[in-house]
Amino acid sequence: MIYLDHAAATPVSKKVFEAMVPYFSTDFFNPSAAYLPAKKVAHDYTEAKGVIAHAIGAKASDLIITAGATEANNLAFTSLTVDSAFFGHTQGRSAKPMFLKKQNPTVLYLITEHDSVRHVAERYGGEAIRVLPSGIIDLADLRSKITDETELISVSLANNELGTIQPLAEVARIIRDVKIDRMKRGIKTQLLLHSDASQALNLLDINVARLGVDLLTINAAKIYGPKGVGALYVSHDARLKPLTFGGGQENGLRSGTENVPGVIGFAKAVELAKEHLNGNRKKYANWRKVLLSELQGYELINKKHMLDNFIVLCYNGIDAERLVFLLEEQGVYVATGAACAASKGVKSHVLKAVGLSDEQIAGSLRLTLGETNTEEQIHQVTQIINKIIKNEYFRIKQS
Ligand code: PLP
Repeated sequence: MIYLDHAAATPVSKKVFEAMVPYFSTDFFNPSAAYLPAKKVAHDYTEAKGVIAHAIGAKASDLIITAGATEANNLAFTSLTVDSAFFGHTQGRSAKPMFLKKQNPTVLYLITEHDSVRHVAERYGGEAIRVLPSGIIDLADLRSKITDETELISVSLANNELGTIQPLAEVARIIRDVKIDRMKRGIKTQLLLHSDASQALNLLDINVARLGVDLLTINAAKIYGPKGVGALYVSHDARLKPLTFGGGQENGLRSGTENVPGVIGFAKAVELAKEHLNGNRKKYANWRKVLLSELQGYELINKKHMLDNFIVLCYNGIDAERLVFLLEEQGVYVATGAACAASKGVKSHVLKAVGLSDEQIAGSLRLTLGETNTEEQIHQVTQIINKIIKNEYFRIKQS
């Protein structure tokens, strides 16, 4: 098997798995219990949170552990002072807010955000910020859309379909200027910056202060940790509301018995990610170059400012879904656009936003490198892809 879909899922690494095991069996205690072994579990849990927090320049008490990035993203939106119920909305996946009262949107979000940001933002009547053809945020569009009512701006650190890295520090600078201006005019409305860094934790050196974010989503599942574990960093300026109510765990914001093995695994994955960050970046950047030089007949979609492990190619006139199937027959696993968008048969909103035609979108393939890959596989896969593409173009010509 040659697995080139690490943006969709990563296997739990052996060291992560081994670190988790005791917390399923011998150290199974509820961290809230009063006896000594439970207190040790509570201590280990907090220490693990500290390791995760430290990796982004934060403290354990700044993190709310969630069941993955989707929940962390949803939680971030509770920082809004308005309630979504105020708007009312239609039900279902394509839920659209129905404004009861016309007003400026309080939420701005990047048009290329993952659905777990986009769909929540839409429920709050959010307005999308455009991207440039490079996939990078159009800062002029952002500036023009901020009003005195804007409370929250959500811009991912790295996109999950293109790997595009956003200039968050510049976004934070714009926000700071707006806040200074608001202060001078006596406007007290909050203005927070949220960023979904799900794809970036093992590929970028992240520091919340340097980025200037108030809320940051991270995800264990994308960094060789367990699925269903994530966290939201919350700065002192942000006031959140609980999504669930109960025992009051996680500062009262996320009730429910702590997922101790999950968090222990997340911490180990973070530790390993930090240890291998520079080495892996260099390795993936080098493999990316090899792939781009050995592959034939493609158009490169993500050309700059992307995570080192992302390669998005377009084979004009070829059906990428058929390519995925043909590659699978050869033991190669890749994705077309976002894995989740593709599985629903929906055209990628990200590829549309960067200006690709329907034909280009239909022919787009996403390869994401990772720790399961070897240099030998990179050479092997270029031969496999080139052969399939050649056959496909021949088949199309004949028909
Ligand atoms: N945000 C981004 C950028 C992602 O890539 C993903 C997963 O694909 C998510 C959020 C959702 O993560 P989860 O499914 O673990 O909740």
